[in-house]
Amino acid sequence: MSSWVNRVLVIGLGLIGGSLAKALREQNAGACIVGYDRDEKEMQTGLRLGVIDEMATGLPEEVSRADLIVLAVPVKATEAVLEQIKPHLTDGTILTDVGSTKGNVVEAAERVFGTVPNTFIPGHPIAGSEKSGVAAADSQLFNGYKVIITPLPDSDPDATAKVDQMWRYTGAEVLSMDVARHDEVLAATSHLPHMLAFSLVDTLAREEENLDIFRYAAGGFRDFTRIAGSDPTMWHDVCLANKEPLLRQLDRFTAGLARLRTAIEEGDGDMMLGTFTRAKAAREHFSRILSDTASSNNMNNENVIFRAQPGGSVAGTIRVPGDKSISHRSIMLGSLAEGITEVSGFLEGEDALATLQAFRDMGVVIEGPNQGKVRIHGVGLNGLQAPPGPIYVGNSGTTIRLLSGLLSAQQFDTELSGDESLAKRPMERVAKPLRLMGAEIETGEGGRPPLKITGGQPLKAIHYDMPMASAQVKSCLMLAGLYADGTTSVTEPAPTRDHTERMLQGFGYAVDVEGSKVSVSNGGKLTATEIDVPADISSATFFLVAAAIT
Ligand code: NAP
Repeated sequence: MSSWVNRVLVIGLGLIGGSLAKALREQNAGACIVGYDRDEKEMQTGLRLGVIDEMATGLPEEVSRADLIVLAVPVKATEAVLEQIKPHLTDGTILTDVGSTKGNVVEAAERVFGTVPNTFIPGHPIAGSEKSGVAAADSQLFNGYKVIITPLPDSDPDATAKVDQMWRYTGAEVLSMDVARHDEVLAATSHLPHMLAFSLVDTLAREEENLDIFRYAAGGFRDFTRIAGSDPTMWHDVCLANKEPLLRQLDRFTAGLARLRTAIEEGDGDMMLGTFTRAKAAREHFSRILSDTASSNNMNNENVIFRAQPGGSVAGTIRVPGDKSISHRSIMLGSLAEGITEVSGFLEGEDALATLQAFRDMGVVIEGPNQGKVRIHGVGLNGLQAPPGPIYVGNSGTTIRLLSGLLSAQQFDTELSGDESLAKRPMERVAKPLRLMGAEIETGEGGRPPLKITGGQPLKAIHYDMPMASAQVKSCLMLAGLYADGTTSVTEPAPTRDHTERMLQGFGYAVDVEGSKVSVSNGGKLTATEIDVPADISSATFFLVAAAIT
């Protein structure tokens, strides 16, 4: 990209236009920042507060002199402003906007120009506040927030790069997506929540004695309804501009609320707990993403210095975190059992949590984990439901390999995927024997994840001589064997961990073990139980060493 631009014209000197102008000035973006607003007082305030370098004297001259023009007016005014500036635009002038909806802005540009100029790069900062007007301009408004730009197929790459650079000067992270996707995503994550907040406050405000109701409202109400203080005119415009995607989201939400209403009416505790636990887990996942505190980040990005000094002693009682293999299997078998399985000592690590999330995605109600305690409302061997999308197992090899056996026997299709490091691990070692049983399973390039499993395949029992000793392969085939017609048996060349066979027996399912051969037959059932996950020996070593050296 050649050097950035010399002259930026911001049209609409309100909260967003003013904040952008001020940030560009403070960051020494190297361009003269000119402001234009139909209200001269706003421009004077902007000049006085150091928001802009210059006030536009007349729109036509400023438009013809500008290298980059930012439309920061309400979306509804976009078309009129484009008409106004069109006669004065010179070739190559870059145009962008900040509107909260993008489809209608692009349509407005089409109406004005015939085809959208290839230097028009629509944009939308995902940051704002309930304030408006240039006096509220804040140079830090976008710092650390996201800005979405929505270049069109024919957009000029140089213009796109310059708009991208403009937002990066403000400290924002710039993402790119297409116009339709932007409007769908924003309808779900911004427009719908605003409708709920406006509607909730309005509904309560209409009730008699509403003053009293608000007096008793606590922090939860305040947090949830903060956005009901947003600019009514702007939201009126957004609803009109993004009607179809917003209606789709409102319909989905209304259906969800109706399901919850039915559950409350019928006292359906499983449905309520299912909704709340899934939401709580999703919310925690979302908060981790927002605060960027995923444990892998912490481990990789920080330079930690430990300084050890001799002396002192250790004494105390601790509960060592639970064994990972058993934590995984507790969730899997508890989900397939009939009744409620209570688990204590569950390892709340990312891998076991990936397994827990996978079963939640398949409709199992799982309460917790809370201090290692988990309650699983088992759905029985045939009670799993199709997940809403691909099942993401993060970095967990155990989850993907064991689930592949179980999912090969289900009536629905599934896709299993994981993170970058899991994507390098071989999966044919489970896929091959599963195909011998009649499973339809497709691995990714080089026999690695993702795995695509076609449901509805009748499985037949096989005997499998494992070419390598692997508890994961053995367990995978035993889980498939719960559904396969006949007796499935596996022989291992060397002993491997036998958690699956022991735990199946703990759930009342018959498993035959004869030397190096284990067998299971279909047709049985798992009965819920209590599991106290034993401590994990590798996690215990820290404390063993500490006690030994002091
Ligand atoms: P704002 O504070 O009300 O500023 C809009 C400014 O544009 C006002 O000064 C307004 O003047 C001026 N204006 C309106 N029509 C105009 C026209 N035809 N020609 C010139 N100036 C005109 O609103 P804002 O919050 O900055 O919102 C601006 C845009 O940012 C909207 O498209 C909105 O969707 C988008 N956005 C807002 C937020 C947010 O949280 N506020 C977040 C992301 C994106 P008057 O006061 O005279 O009408």
